[in-house]
Amino acid sequence: MTEDAIIIGGGFAGLSAAMQLARARRRITIVDTGEPRNRFAAHSHGFLAQDGRPGGEILADARRQLAAYETVTFRDAPAERLEGERDAFCVVTGDGGRIAARRVLLATGFEDRLPAIPGLAERWGKTVLHCPYCHGYEVGGGPVGVLARTAEAARFAAVVADWGNVTLFTNQVPEPDEEALAVLAARNVKLRPGRVTAISDGPDGMLAIETGPGIPTLVKALFVMPEARVRSAIPADRGLKLKETPVGSILDTDDTGQTSLPGLYAAGDIALGAANISLASANGVKTGVFLHHSLIWPAH
Ligand SMILES: Cc1cc2nc3c(=O)[nH]c(=O)nc-3n(C[C@H](O)[C@H](O)[C@H](O)COP(=O)(O)OP(=O)(O)OC[C@H]3O[C@@H](n4cnc5c(N)ncnc54)[C@H](O)[C@@H]3O)c2cc1C
Repeated sequence: MTEDAIIIGGGFAGLSAAMQLARARRRITIVDTGEPRNRFAAHSHGFLAQDGRPGGEILADARRQLAAYETVTFRDAPAERLEGERDAFCVVTGDGGRIAARRVLLATGFEDRLPAIPGLAERWGKTVLHCPYCHGYEVGGGPVGVLARTAEAARFAAVVADWGNVTLFTNQVPEPDEEALAVLAARNVKLRPGRVTAISDGPDGMLAIETGPGIPTLVKALFVMPEARVRSAIPADRGLKLKETPVGSILDTDDTGQTSLPGLYAAGDIALGAANISLASANGVKTGVFLHHSLIWPAH
């Protein structure tokens, strides 16, 4: 049996697209490994009417609601390969399955490449944070750090200053230019030069940020914009066109979510770059609707 669509990745974007297709009574299979990007954080914030709920709980509710639609199938396995073309795709899964479909939507999300600093990875999503809008309010003000990875960090630090007294750890990234230095000074951002060598527990729940010998800087939280990579081998295997963004390469799509391979759509973080649950969900809804139209109108 050929599915109308296979959705690879059952996170916020994939399930939002699935809901539109399920409600159009289309036959879909959602292939998912159950590891959304925000799984390191205990709670998610900023998603309207869901503020403070664990992200996994929101996704579990969505899966339960989708499972009530007769035309929806879940396959909890990795999608390893995409063969074929528009109207005759085949997704090969890690459990030995081969699923045929007319369209495919890739919504596998990002994998964050964290800086290799001892003590950083184990604090990711807890006190080492990627986004002040998601977790900055809960830090509750006071001293916070921003770890530079690229020159974009100066802009980021100036924004984070609305959530606390910022120290920007330049970490051997080129120092901000004069214009940026003026904005940082106006925002009371302090610069701490040198390479960050380790992050450890300081007194009273603080983080101790070490920049070589000497007294470490104490902060309540450290913000960093890591490099993000698309979590799938399919774009490289199928030679999909990519687009550069400040967080990393994403899939180049048109306004409907169509990638450079006809019939293959993309949604969520991997089609947006810097995003969040609300944006990924909205993008999933939009792409799901356009994918549905493409099943009806050959020109789409
Ligand atoms: C630590 C952290 C905390 C965050 N907190 C918040 C927050 O509080 N509020 C907020 O709005 N945003 C938050 N975000 C951002 C948010 O997590 C993402 O924007 C959102 O998850 C993107 O949704 P998505 O559907 O594109 O991808 P994801 O939610 O990452 O879902 C991708 C899905 O695809 C699956 N998958 C991957 N590869 C395969 C494969 N080959 N085969 C099958 N399945 C596959 C994964 O297992 C996963 O289930 C946070 C991000 C991080 C890193």
